[in-house]
Amino acid sequence: MSAPSDSQRMEKIVSLCKRRGFIFQSSEIYGGLNGCWDYGPLGVELKRNLKNYWWRVMVRERDDVVGMDGSILMNRAVWKASGHEDTFSDPMVDCRSCKARLRADQLIDKKGVKQCPNCGGKDLTEPRAFNLMFKTYVGATEDESSITYLRPETAQAIFVQFKNILEISRRKLPFGIAQIGKAFRNEINPRNFTFRSREFEQMELEYFCRAEEGMKWLEYWKEERLKFYENIGIARDKLHVLTVPDAERAFYSKGTYDIEYDFPFGRQELEGVAYRTDYDLSQHQKASGKSLEYFDEETKEKFIPHVVEPSAGVDRTVLALI
Ligand SMILES: [Zn+2]
Repeated sequence: MSAPSDSQRMEKIVSLCKRRGFIFQSSEIYGGLNGCWDYGPLGVELKRNLKNYWWRVMVRERDDVVGMDGSILMNRAVWKASGHEDTFSDPMVDCRSCKARLRADQLIDKKGVKQCPNCGGKDLTEPRAFNLMFKTYVGATEDESSITYLRPETAQAIFVQFKNILEISRRKLPFGIAQIGKAFRNEINPRNFTFRSREFEQMELEYFCRAEEGMKWLEYWKEERLKFYENIGIARDKLHVLTVPDAERAFYSKGTYDIEYDFPFGRQELEGVAYRTDYDLSQHQKASGKSLEYFDEETKEKFIPHVVEPSAGVDRTVLALI
């Protein structure tokens, strides 16, 4: 008896997705564009159903969440303040033998000697930071003053519109702002079909709360999101909750769960539920000079709210459903 290997199963899924009209390679007649995918007639329906269902349970059926739809291009200052311009990067190493560009954490370590996983070569460059954001120019001149990036996450639009939405919606804590939209990351090695692509869609909620309730809402959203996946038909025994260890968490996060799924290529993240503290709003308040504080009518206190973020990948969830 020979069971198909995981990569054979994955190949089958890719060809089935094409034949049935779910997912095609982007620009296929020109040889494709690595890390980009098009959804066909069935794929677009599945994807739209998923997004509509998320919007229904996360926004419409709740009275503590409102929605927004931010622009993909934003002022470069957003990405400076958020830390993405300086730190949103992977350390990369070039193999001088086969010319492959590799992520430093993907090298093979043989008795303390780093080797290229492609050719076994040991002639490697020092690691260099490679920023994952797509750079572009806004307007007619291509110079330093016109640089911005395609957003690498939808969350920052929510943080920078926090004050406007707080004022017009007259919300009291805790309350959330939700958004579904495209995000872009110039992944060095896009892989596993639509799982790690360069253009993808996110469904994100930023749930603002008091500092002392952050951990409580982190637990709450982890449970809500697990229920969501079960409700769309993903078997509970294929879902796993990983508590991200202190050393691997973003330095500003006080707690992060990854909700993982058993894909044919291994157990991988479907969604991250992160307690981001007051880091993002504080950064934008400092950089913009505009107050992003919340005023509590009852206690007359002014403070920057903390935030818990359940951030789901549309394309990954579609892949799990196929
Ligand atoms: Zn090599």
